[in-house]
Amino acid sequence: MADAKVILIMIDALGYETAWARCGYLGHLVEQNKGALYRVKGELPAQSRPMYETVLTGLTVREHGICSNEMVRPSKCENLFSIAKKNGKTTAAAAYMWIAELYNGITAYCSLTDRYQLGNAAGLIENGIFYCVDDYPDSHLYADGDYLRKAFHPDFLLIHPMNVDDQGHKHGQGSRAYEHAAEMSINIIDCYLDQWRQDGYDVVVTADHGMDELGYHFGDTRLQREVPLFIISDQIQPGNYGDHTVSQLNVAPLVCRLMGMEFSGGMVDPSKEIRW
Ligand SMILES: [Zn+2]
Repeated sequence: MADAKVILIMIDALGYETAWARCGYLGHLVEQNKGALYRVKGELPAQSRPMYETVLTGLTVREHGICSNEMVRPSKCENLFSIAKKNGKTTAAAAYMWIAELYNGITAYCSLTDRYQLGNAAGLIENGIFYCVDDYPDSHLYADGDYLRKAFHPDFLLIHPMNVDDQGHKHGQGSRAYEHAAEMSINIIDCYLDQWRQDGYDVVVTADHGMDELGYHFGDTRLQREVPLFIISDQIQPGNYGDHTVSQLNVAPLVCRLMGMEFSGGMVDPSKEIRW
């Protein structure tokens, strides 16, 4: 198995159609056979906290038990942070406060005390910067993530921006504001991408769920469920596989495999749907 470092970018509420319509340099790399794009069918409910846990554990909601945004408790399941630590690898995250509540033992995030969690050897996320307002600028959030990369050289780094979700709730999928937020977020990735690759990172870009025209995500429509999965890595077959859907349960074991880690027993084998 290969032993890459991975940056996982989870753009909150970036639906598949918008991701491809605003694909920028990521789309260019797919078109040039330097990256892969998959169309992911997200799990239900198409809601943030349950899908954070699904993306990071590779489990369905029925299996991991985080069934609502209102369920505030730590994850009870093996996840990418815990698996990385068990494999002697280092972890970091620039992410929304709910990630700190799920994986770093924060029971009720406090903006006065919990934003910076650096050098936290006891936490699953050893170095974290966590925000609590949905309009925290994506430009600042990516810079937080890149700071963690340069300062701590984590083997696994989660970057989790929120502006697409925020504009989607205010204006709906297809609005100028939502599409603009998506383009801005992807454009920032484009600016960082080559230096991340030169620093030895495979880069995976996906979303927790999508967004419908009314500004909601909760249920079973394509706009709410279908999200992108861009994989920029020399370990996988490049190409555009967006003509059919693959399961969201692939994301966590995909990251495990890119990092050369055994994925946990409950996870699906990603090689059945992702081309290596
Ligand atoms: Zn949302």
